[in-house]
Amino acid sequence: MQNLLVTGGAGFIGSNFIHYTRSQRPEVNLVVLDALTYAGNRANLAHYEGTPGFTFVHGNILDTSLVETLLIENNIDAIVHFAAESHVDRSITGPSAFIDTNVVGTHSLLQAARKVWENELDKHHFHHVSTDEVYGTLGPTDPAFTEQTPYAPNSPYAASKAASDHLVRAYHHTYGMPVTTSNCSNNYGPYQFPEKLLPLCLLNILYGKPLPIYGDGSQIRDWLHVDDHNVGLWLILDKGRLGETYNIGGHNEWKNLDTVQLLCELVDECFAMDTTLIARFTKAPASKGMSSKELITFVTDRPGHDSRYAIDAGKIGTELGYKPVNSFRSGLVSTIQWYLTNESWWQVLRKV
Ligand code: NAD
Repeated sequence: MQNLLVTGGAGFIGSNFIHYTRSQRPEVNLVVLDALTYAGNRANLAHYEGTPGFTFVHGNILDTSLVETLLIENNIDAIVHFAAESHVDRSITGPSAFIDTNVVGTHSLLQAARKVWENELDKHHFHHVSTDEVYGTLGPTDPAFTEQTPYAPNSPYAASKAASDHLVRAYHHTYGMPVTTSNCSNNYGPYQFPEKLLPLCLLNILYGKPLPIYGDGSQIRDWLHVDDHNVGLWLILDKGRLGETYNIGGHNEWKNLDTVQLLCELVDECFAMDTTLIARFTKAPASKGMSSKELITFVTDRPGHDSRYAIDAGKIGTELGYKPVNSFRSGLVSTIQWYLTNESWWQVLRKV
């Protein structure tokens, strides 16, 4: 694989994928297509701009003719499709953008790829990045989601991703499009927009603001460090069977309340070890000798909130040798350290 088109490469997972690929696969030429919505940030990729083998294109996946041109001019042999509207809360207040980008946008990409690659489909690969949320919700003792679990999306976000997964599958079965799909659990790590649970709570701790927990915080999520997601994505790009879907997860289920409590403990430990943080973040509880947990505040639950997600990643483990390596604790510590070291990155976003 030589020339890769990465949609949504300026977002959280997409930009981490670019960093990972630059360091592990420097021979791969990367073309990033990103509409730079509120969630996209060109600064995430700033150090590659102007370097050989990297091109950033500010544009929309809905622009089929732009995508066709990019595929032809860059001789693209694989697409990794991250671009999406990705925040469940926003999908509840404004679902239309999710249908436009996630459903129509994915279809536009498929159409463009099919047209350009038509006569040599076997030389190409379209990888679609999706979520475990398409499977719906689990009871406390239900077995984890497998690739055979029926789809039962409960939020407009999950429904839009489910629809895009179905389109990708249909393009394979109907037109022979060389596709793979991955359904991944909750990611965390650097460059995550501070509306998602972990960066939101981290920055709220630093400024002494409440940590909003939906309902009683008993909802269970499986957490995966974004670098472990990228390892899985590259295994699928290298060795995944076309037409297949692969679940990617961390075997790491946590109640939301416990996740936020762990974050609080780790931030307090950072303040204890680095006393310069007290002068930088005077409103943080740890700067006043208090526990960050005192900021935890229970708020009205999200409508249709799924109670538990759990991923059975046995297929990608057995078939492709996938194994996540980051423990939740060490991954969270390095993520906290990244945010503390890169204050200028998130200060801009706090004002968005
Ligand atoms: P994100 O919201 O951080 O980034 C999305 C990126 O897509 C942004 O850079 C945005 O500008 C871009 N974009 C949005 N609409 C576009 C359009 N019409 N054309 C071109 N670019 C557009 O999202 P993320 O958290 O990095 O998620 C990336 C993908 O991974 C999504 O498809 C999401 O469904 C999936 N996923 C995310 C998680 C998670 O925990 N974040 C877990 C599983 C799967």
